[in-house]
Amino acid sequence: MATNLHIIYWSGFYHFILVEFSVDRTGKVTFSGILLLMTLQVSWLLSCAESQEPTYQAPKRNNQASQKNPGQQTGIQQGANPLNAGGVQGTQGTISQGQQSGSQDSQGTSSAVNIGEEPSGDQLSVSELNSLLSSWAQKAPGLLSYAKYGNVNGQDASFLRITGKSSQNLPKVMVTAATHGNEQITTTILISVFYKMISQYGKDAAITEIFDTRDVYFVPAVCPDAYENNTREADGQDPNRSFPYPGEEQGSPSKCISAIMKLFNDKKFNATIDYHAQGGMIMYPWAYQSSEVGEHNQAYKTLSKKVADAANYQWGQILDLVGESPGSSADYYHWQGNKSGSNTVALGVEVAGDVSSDIGSHLKALPIFLKDAPTASFWLSEGLAPEPPPFIPPPGFVRGME
Ligand SMILES: [Zn+2]
Repeated sequence: MATNLHIIYWSGFYHFILVEFSVDRTGKVTFSGILLLMTLQVSWLLSCAESQEPTYQAPKRNNQASQKNPGQQTGIQQGANPLNAGGVQGTQGTISQGQQSGSQDSQGTSSAVNIGEEPSGDQLSVSELNSLLSSWAQKAPGLLSYAKYGNVNGQDASFLRITGKSSQNLPKVMVTAATHGNEQITTTILISVFYKMISQYGKDAAITEIFDTRDVYFVPAVCPDAYENNTREADGQDPNRSFPYPGEEQGSPSKCISAIMKLFNDKKFNATIDYHAQGGMIMYPWAYQSSEVGEHNQAYKTLSKKVADAANYQWGQILDLVGESPGSSADYYHWQGNKSGSNTVALGVEVAGDVSSDIGSHLKALPIFLKDAPTASFWLSEGLAPEPPPFIPPPGFVRGME
C-alpha cells in the first residue's frame, strides 16, 4: 500500500504548485506528478471589476469649433445655440437617436412608475424626509435608488438617485437643497418638483429622455443637522462659507460640508445646482472673486440665462448678486470639478420664496439644467453669450442672508 505525499509551494501572487509523491511499504519515494494550480485573490478580482466600470468622460472645454461633437456622447441631440434657437425651450423636446433599449422591462421600454401620494408640501423632519425618499425608491426600483452617504451630528445625510437605464457612462448631475439648514423651503420645493418629474417618467417624452440619459442625485438636505435645528449655521459657522476655494485650499468645512465634498469627489459630478432661499436668482461662479471663470464664462452665461428665463428669475455672477462669498458651494464644485477632469458646471439658485410658484418655476427650469448643464461646453465657440442684466434686489432681499 502506497501513501501519497503532497507538497504545496506557493509560487506567486495568484498561482501555486502542487507536487505529489507516493511512498511504498519499503519506504521508497516515487515522484508522481506536478500540478500548477491557478487561483485568484477575491480582493484582486473585485478591484478589477471596479476599475472596469466605464465612467462618463466629460467633454473638453475650449473655444475650438472642431471640439463640438453633438449628441454622440450623451444620446441627447444638441440643439443649436439656444439664443439662435429662439430662447428657452420647454420640456416638450423629442426623444433622440439611440439608447432606447431600457432596463425598465424586458421589452426595453421606459415604463411609468407610481411612487404614491403627492407630498403635501408640509415641511418634513430629516427622518420623515429620508423615509419618504426611501419609500419612493422601493416603489420604483428600476428608476430610483436611495442611499445614506453620511451621518452628521446624529442626522443621516442621504440622496435619491434617479436614472432610468444603465447608469454607466452617463453624465452625473447633483441637485442639492438646504445647504443652509434654515432654508427648508428649498427641500420642500424640490421634493414636489422631483415627485412631479418622476411621475412623468414613461409618459412625458422629454422627462423620460432626461432620466434615461442622466445619472441624477438629489440630496434633500446637505446639512441635515442644521436642517433639523432650523439654523443657518452648522458646527458654529456658515457652512456655505466653509468650502475650500482657490487660495484657501484646505478650508475648515463644517461636518456636513465635508460629507458632501466627499460625495462630490467620489461621484465626480459633471454638473451641480445648489438651492438656497431667497431672491429668485440663477447664479454662476465665482463667488469669492469678481473675475470671470475663464473660458467657461460663455457657457455659464448662456446656461444661466436659459434656466433663469424658464424660472422667471434674475441671473448673473454670484458675487454681483449676493456679494463676495468666499467658501461657497458653486465655487468649490466648479473649481474642484475642473481640476479633476469632471468639467463640472456649477450653478447656485435662490428660490423666490413662494412654494407653489417656485415649484412651477423649477418644473420648467430644472429639466433644462439637467439636460443642458453637462454639455454646456458645446456652446462655447458660439460667442453669443448674453451679458447679465442689472440686478434689481427683490423686496426684503438682504445680502449675506441668502
Ligand atoms: Zn442659503
